Amino acid sequence: MLLPPANWLPQAPLEHLHLDWLTSAGIEVAILRLDQIDPLISGNKWFKLVEHLKAADRAGAEGIISLGGAHSNHLHALAATGKRLGFDTVGLLRGHAQDTPTVRDLQAFGMQVHWLGYGGYRARHEPGFWQPWQQQYPHLYAVPEGGGGLPGALGCAAIKEQAQAQLASLGWSDYYGWWLACGTGTTLAGLVLAEAGAHPVYGALAVPDDHGVAPQVSAIIREAGATDATYELIDASRDGFAKVDPPLLEFIDQSEQASGILLEPLYTGKALLALKQQVEARRFAPGTRLIFIHTGGLQGRRGLAANR
Ligand SMILES: *Cc1c(COP(=O)(O)O)cnc(C)c1O
Repeated sequence: MLLPPANWLPQAPLEHLHLDWLTSAGIEVAILRLDQIDPLISGNKWFKLVEHLKAADRAGAEGIISLGGAHSNHLHALAATGKRLGFDTVGLLRGHAQDTPTVRDLQAFGMQVHWLGYGGYRARHEPGFWQPWQQQYPHLYAVPEGGGGLPGALGCAAIKEQAQAQLASLGWSDYYGWWLACGTGTTLAGLVLAEAGAHPVYGALAVPDDHGVAPQVSAIIREAGATDATYELIDASRDGFAKVDPPLLEFIDQSEQASGILLEPLYTGKALLALKQQVEARRFAPGTRLIFIHTGGLQGRRGLAANR
């Protein structure tokens, strides 16, 4: 059984976000804390996994095999879920054996780890890539890198429901739109599908243009057969994925002190800084209410701090 018990549903708190640049522009932001859904399992990666877990369960699998890097939030969430729900997990890792805080957690959670090297990892989209792994682990179900694709997006519809159920507790009857970080755009695509045009979704791109987020998002929306899709992608990559610069780090520091909320620099920190730039450019009229998603990933920060 790969599915959580019916009484276990990770819940993300929705809170007011108080920052002076929002107040002075008259913009109200509520932050949806996907970083707080569970003590072990953090972030949007849980929501991206749900439909994959259901498919694996239907296929009679006893566990999940998937791929990622040595700081991967996806593998971390997968391994934690496997430990929590008691199913087997195998992780195929990019590069050569490394001892990162993430990898130590994966192993502590009971994930079987294999290092593919860089060339071996690049071959992950080639036909035949999965065959030897399926032979070695016939009882496992393969989930693509990051938990992407339409199943990943469909699981993210629950993100909208969780926020909407808490609006009244903030004194809000409605909101204008969403603001969140994008890596593959799967989470954004899920929200766009769930909204069906009712509220726009703004995606702050944590990766440069050549990562093909825009075509990936349109492909998911097309595959779902959706006709109403209101979203916009905004560059927030600051010269490359996984790169941080002093102004970004200073902004994160200030925001953490002012809000009391820890930010993860590669996605959430960049997304919040991109929002600040748009707010200062008067992109949103005073009185606008936005839901900003904290997509989690704080676990990956440990490796980053060590590299600096
Ligand atoms: C993976 C990840 C994202 C990006 O999600 P996509 O669905 O790939 O766009 C954003 N924030 C964090 C912390 C992540 O780990």
